[in-house]
Order: sequence, then structure tokens, then C-alpha cells
Amino acid sequence: MSDTTAVIGKNKPMNAHEMATAQLNRAAEVMGLDPEIHTILSQPKNELIVNFPVRMDDGRHVMFKGYRIQHNNIMGPYKGGIRYHHEVHLDEVKALAAWMTWKCAVMEIPFGGAKGGIKFDPRQYSPAELERITRRFTHALGNNIGPDHDIPAPDVGTNAQTMVWLMDTYMNFTPSDRKNAVRGVVTGKSLTSGGSQGREKATGQGLVFVVEEWAKENNFSLNGATFAVQGFGNVGSFAARILAKHGSKLVAVQDHTGAIRSVDGLDAVKLADWVKKNGGVAGFPGGDVINQTEFFSTQCDLFIPAALENQITAETAPLLKCRAVFEGANGPTDIDGDRILRERGIELLPDVLANAGGVTVSYFEWLQNRRAESWTLEEVDARLHTMMVHAYATVRRIARDRKIDNRTAAYVHALTRIETVYKERGIFP
Ligand code: GLU
Repeated sequence: MSDTTAVIGKNKPMNAHEMATAQLNRAAEVMGLDPEIHTILSQPKNELIVNFPVRMDDGRHVMFKGYRIQHNNIMGPYKGGIRYHHEVHLDEVKALAAWMTWKCAVMEIPFGGAKGGIKFDPRQYSPAELERITRRFTHALGNNIGPDHDIPAPDVGTNAQTMVWLMDTYMNFTPSDRKNAVRGVVTGKSLTSGGSQGREKATGQGLVFVVEEWAKENNFSLNGATFAVQGFGNVGSFAARILAKHGSKLVAVQDHTGAIRSVDGLDAVKLADWVKKNGGVAGFPGGDVINQTEFFSTQCDLFIPAALENQITAETAPLLKCRAVFEGANGPTDIDGDRILRERGIELLPDVLANAGGVTVSYFEWLQNRRAESWTLEEVDARLHTMMVHAYATVRRIARDRKIDNRTAAYVHALTRIETVYKERGIFP
């Protein structure tokens, strides 16, 4: 849940929608995507904005602005998280929705792409207020979501509790005889309310599976390797704890509260407990306090941005001293950042592959809900592993065959599948 906006220099961060469009255009050109399908995919199918009042604990009513952007559903129901953050805006949610379409297609999951959010800082509100905000937002979304139509999940600022409130609210306006059939309206629920084993750690776990494949391909030993993580929320903290089990060493970490570094390595498990109690990495004993430039300049093997968009940019990409970047966040590298990493020969494993473990286990949760099943953690992890290994191999094969970067290769893989379906089905009427 960490947020870190680039504060180095004065450059305005790139608009996320423009960034997503530039990525799409690059891949479309490489593969010769049908121009009409390209145009269709350049905009979301539906953009829903709702304004709604919520009663605060002191009795006042405050207006909130919520979004649900449905980018594309040709491969299956719309799918994607709900973000609570004070910087949520239309163009950001549009970009995040498009990235979900590509991510699900890269993973060969039968889902489309969507994203939602509310523009507010959840840290400033009580649990009772968060519950009322979530329930009122769900009510405002009404039948625009549904287990066969559009399936939300957690994202920055939301968690399993948020999803359970959402599910319960949705169930409350579903006829009694259908209530249990709609449990899959959201994923990322608590285990007790119908969630899946392994969902909480899934994004971090999937990222580590990608790291493992990369290490194998490069004959690189993870035992003794060093890594830095930006953002120590769900994705960053699970990735760090799982990598630590491989004998890799966390040498630097940064979040919205500050940055710390230790050449001897930071204890990822203790740091995760610290962040839970204190709200951020600042003050964690055992590390030296560093600034943002020092954080980005830290010598390490693997760099894992797991916070927000626009972190690896024209200003920060030249600072990186790592072998490879694994994108735990969505859109952490802007267009200049991508180009600079390519020029510098730093390999990048893109968000739509590296952080796809979350939506993949969301798919498993949705399947379990439909079939009234409950899979073991071993089964979930094994299936996730198979799918991540397959997606990694496919993306790398395309990158090698076409001599293109991994992000463009992932897009080519996703767009080829989507284009095929458009051509098979045609455009109505
Ligand atoms: N918010 C996560 C993502 O960006 C998970 C989405 C999901 O599980 O639907 O991939």
C-alpha cells in the first residue's frame, strides 16, 4: 500500500493513459496490428464515474468520486482491482484498466480488463467510515459489476476486508435464492468469506516465480543475490519475504515514509511486521536512512518497483545499478525510463507478466467459487507456478524471435490473441 511519487527534479510525471497508449502503439507497429482493432483497443469500452455522499463518524456528509473503467471484455468478464488513493484520476484508471486486459491475455486467463477506484486517502478514515464508503460505492456501481460481468479485486489501498464488504453489499441486493451464486462478484476475499488459499501473497509469489525463471535462463544464483524494493505493501513485502527464503539479500527499501539501506541485508520478515505496526519503513532499526537518489543508486542485482506509476523515469533510470528490473507495480516505468534501461542493457520484466500472479490466483478463486470448491495452498501454488513459467517462456520466446524488448513481446503475445478473437467474431452488427 506504499505510495512514492517521484520527487527527484521538477519533471511532471507522465500521464498514465498516454504512457499506456504509447506502449500499445509500439507493439501495434512491431506486429502490424489491424488498424481498426488498434483503434478499438485505444479506448475503454465503458467509463463510469459516480459521485456519492457518505456519513462520517462526526455526522457530516462528505462527497466522494468513484470510477469503474471497463476496458475490454472480448476474452471474458471485465476483471481488475479497486484502488483507494488520493491521486486516483480518470486517466490513471483508464491506463490501469488497459493493463489488466493485456495482463489477462498474457496469462491466457479468460478475463478482460477493468479497474476502479475512489479518490481519497484511506489512511485518514476510520474503519467504520471505510466500510460505509465501500458499501455506498458498491451500491452506486449496482449492476455494472457481477460475477459474470465485471469482477473487482484489491489494489493499492484496499484489502480482503474491503472485498468482503463489497461482496456483502452486492449480495444484499441479490434475491435470496441467488445470494450464494454471486460470491464470485469479487476476488481477494478473506478465506472465511470465500477467498482462496495463496491469494494474499499471489502477486509477490508470481513475481518470484518470474525471478526464478529469469535466474535459470541467465545462469544466475539467487542464493546470495542482492535486491532493492520500492513500496513495502502487499506486493513488495511478499516478494521480499519469498526471495529471502532463496537466500537473497534485501539491501534497500523505500516507501512513502522514507528509505533505508543496509549492505548486510534487512530482515524482510521483521520489516513487514514493522510496516504493519508503524505504517511505513521509516524508523526500522538496522538500516541507514538514505535519500531517494541514494535509494535508486543502490548497487543490487534485482530492482523491484512495487509502489505506483512513474518511478523509473528519465531522471531515475540512469541511476539504477542493477542487472534486471521486475515490475511489481503497474506502470512503474515510463516511456523514457524504458528507453534508458534498454540502452543501458538492463533487462526489464514488465508488469503485465511480473505482477500477474495476483489476477491469476483471482481467477483460481473465481473458479473455486463457481464450483463450490476449496483448493489447498499446494495446489494453488503449483497451478500458479505452471502458468507463470508458461507465460514467461512465451514472452521470452517472442522477444528473442523478434529481437524486441520483453514489454513489447508481452504486448505482442496479448494483442495477437485478442486480434484473433476479434477477427473470428467480427464487429457487431
Ligand atoms: N490489482 C491487481 C492487479 O493489478 C489484481 C487484480 C485482480 O486480481 O483482479 O493485477
